[in-house]
Amino acid sequence: MKVSLVRCTDDPEGMIAEAARISHMASGEGKEDDRDLIRRLRDWGHWSPFEFASATFFVEGVSRSCLAQITRHRLGSFMVRSMRYVKQEPDEVVVPDTVEEAGVSDDFRDQVVSNYEAYQKMLDAGVPKEDARFILPIGSKTSLYFKTNFREYRHIIDIRKTEEAQWEIRRLAEEFLDQLSELAPSVFEDQID
Ligand SMILES: Cc1cc2nc3c(=O)[nH]c(=O)nc-3n(C[C@H](O)[C@H](O)[C@H](O)COP(=O)(O)OP(=O)(O)OC[C@H]3O[C@@H](n4cnc5c(N)ncnc54)[C@H](O)[C@@H]3O)c2cc1C
Repeated sequence: MKVSLVRCTDDPEGMIAEAARISHMASGEGKEDDRDLIRRLRDWGHWSPFEFASATFFVEGVSRSCLAQITRHRLGSFMVRSMRYVKQEPDEVVVPDTVEEAGVSDDFRDQVVSNYEAYQKMLDAGVPKEDARFILPIGSKTSLYFKTNFREYRHIIDIRKTEEAQWEIRRLAEEFLDQLSELAPSVFEDQID
């Protein structure tokens, strides 16, 4: 999995503090003042100002299983590599660590190769990619652009960076947190372990 920042709101902490101050028609006195205000907003549970900052990430090499989970977050925007137009390659599959640890990774890979051979055979026989893909595994890798606002990133991190969440989406949530906490420490610092 590779997670790269594509775009972020310029000065996201400044933007959130500026939006929050509208309620009192107040003004701030610089970065530390903005951060103090954001920490108070967090304490009060005053979350709507956090919607005024957003970030877009390019997420590469996650499974279709992870895709199914992240797309459940309805406040996100998504643009996903198409399996209708782009041909999948046999090495584009996520192999879970548990498969390696159980010593069955050769069986896993043999089965994947066999599925891809059938996929290729169908393409050669004229079956369109959008139909031939039905035989590919849920571990097939995909890439997507993902965008949402900081309130929703906090929510995703809250419920996906936990032991209850599946490992792959947990890693994705950890990546979001690592990068977002650099960009806006006062927004995400309380979510770092
Ligand atoms: C550990 C774990 C296990 C899971 N297991 C399953 C499973 O077995 N099967 C399954 O189908 N899903 C499962 N899910 C997915 C889960 O049910 C949610 O679909 C997913 O986490 C999206 O989160 P969300 O619904 O909070 O909202 P998001 O779409 O991220 O929305 C953010 C928030 O906006 C509000 N909101 C959004 N839409 C509405 C709405 N229509 N009405 C009211 N409020 C709304 C809610 O407050 C919501 O929390 C699991 C999730 C986790 C974290």
